[in-house]
Amino acid sequence: MTGTTASAADEIDRVLDAAVAVPLWLDTPARPAPRPAVRGDAETDLVVIGGGFTGLWTALRAKERAPDRRVLLLEADRIAQHATGRNGGFCEGSLTHGEANGRRRWPDEYDVLDRLGRENLAAIAATVERYGIDCDFRIDGVLSVATRPHEVADLEPDEPGFLDADAVRRLVDSPTYLAGRVDDDGCALVDPARLAWGLAEAAESLGVRIAEGTPAEDVSLRGGRVLVRTPGGTVTADGVVLATNAFRPLLARLRWHTVPVYDYVLATEPLTPEQLAAVGWTGRQGIADSGNRFHYYRLSADDRIIWGGYDAVYHFGRRIDPALDDRRATHRLLAEQFYETFPQLRGVRFTHRWGGVIDTCTRFCAFFGTGLRGRAAYALGFTGLGVGASRFAADAMLDLLDGEATERTRLAMVRRRPLPFPPEPFAYAGIQLTRWSLARADVTGRRNVWLRTLDRLGLGFDS
Ligand SMILES: Cc1cc2nc3c(=O)[nH]c(=O)nc-3n(C[C@H](O)[C@H](O)[C@H](O)COP(=O)(O)OP(=O)(O)OC[C@H]3O[C@@H](n4cnc5c(N)ncnc54)[C@H](O)[C@@H]3O)c2cc1C
Repeated sequence: MTGTTASAADEIDRVLDAAVAVPLWLDTPARPAPRPAVRGDAETDLVVIGGGFTGLWTALRAKERAPDRRVLLLEADRIAQHATGRNGGFCEGSLTHGEANGRRRWPDEYDVLDRLGRENLAAIAATVERYGIDCDFRIDGVLSVATRPHEVADLEPDEPGFLDADAVRRLVDSPTYLAGRVDDDGCALVDPARLAWGLAEAAESLGVRIAEGTPAEDVSLRGGRVLVRTPGGTVTADGVVLATNAFRPLLARLRWHTVPVYDYVLATEPLTPEQLAAVGWTGRQGIADSGNRFHYYRLSADDRIIWGGYDAVYHFGRRIDPALDDRRATHRLLAEQFYETFPQLRGVRFTHRWGGVIDTCTRFCAFFGTGLRGRAAYALGFTGLGVGASRFAADAMLDLLDGEATERTRLAMVRRRPLPFPPEPFAYAGIQLTRWSLARADVTGRRNVWLRTLDRLGLGFDS
């Protein structure tokens, strides 16, 4: 264990033992009671499968766009139970996981993607306002920080807005910061679970029916209609939206396009005013460091620090299992790195520890498509960027189902799909080699032959 004595390691284990293994956002009396499952057969116009942000935005937008359309949302588990209720709550204006990724992949349409992303963020803010969703949605800016000398250049020291070590430490005080840059308006912070519950309520207020505890086991087409098999019966519809994220895709050919990657998070107890003053952070920006393996962290409305990222973990055979939500090795690493970043918070305890699964694809942002002769639409592969982009995805899928060409459906980003991952054991071997190479690159500042080859092929692995 680097830089940690045995007694400090024991202390970290004690602190982690005391934290509950539950996502902070879901550990609240504000969590709504589960809605009843669908029992027996049902008939509707549009069936949406998945009750995370992608499915919820789709259900809401479907009603806003066509109030007479009947919409039924099926969630296998509970609304916001998975990535949607476990994330950092960074609601980004980017649809492409940042400008560099977007410009490299779609240089000709990047300006349009950038505009659509900003419009999307503004539309999310307007939705929160219109339906009075109480979810601490705030645009406080995001601070990118360099913590290793070779990361400073990426923050463009010669451009306006660059913050040297002293300037960045006046905003947020960590001895690890070497430089920084603030993006004032490109990202909001939100309590993701309360946003999701608010979207569910808003959708219901427009007439959407939401069923929890209802897994879709199979989708098929018969006599021009979509059939969705559930444990209790069959749902018949004109169209279906597949918003199942990292879980087993209902269209077999999508199987290879994503891999489930676990990402882990800790939350502290609420900081006292003195503890907060020791860090500064009066601007309450979201923060991300600049490594290939990066931390993201932020304050909650009640002054906890939510601290996540860094160690993206893939399990052989695309395994997803609730037992993997809690991973001591990663939580220990995160706790050590937290105290290194904020040594002035040494005595602060963690109250929550959790993990969640991310649908990683080889291009780092969502891809789209249709199946069942145009009656099914899907959006998958958000790769850790779905809090905001899921709203754009909802409209893109509804456009695809409507069959009309729109600005969204004409985009190469929407029309083209990324390269798939290989089957096992090659997926596992390739991902482990990539993780190892990224960790090396963080130390050396140089990308090895493997990473340069992936870069040339436009492939990658990320959380
Ligand atoms: C730890 C973590 C941190 C993250 N941080 C950020 C961040 O700060 N910013 C950001 O933009 N993104 C972040 N993300 C990613 C973001 O959370 C997701 O991209 C977003 O929530 C995706 O929502 P979704 O609806 O596609 O997926 P989910 O929330 O996973 O929802 C999919 C739902 O479909 C249901 N389902 C699956 N199969 C079926 C079936 N057959 N029948 C019925 N239901 C089914 C599942 O039960 C699940 O509830 C993070 C993710 C994690 C895990």
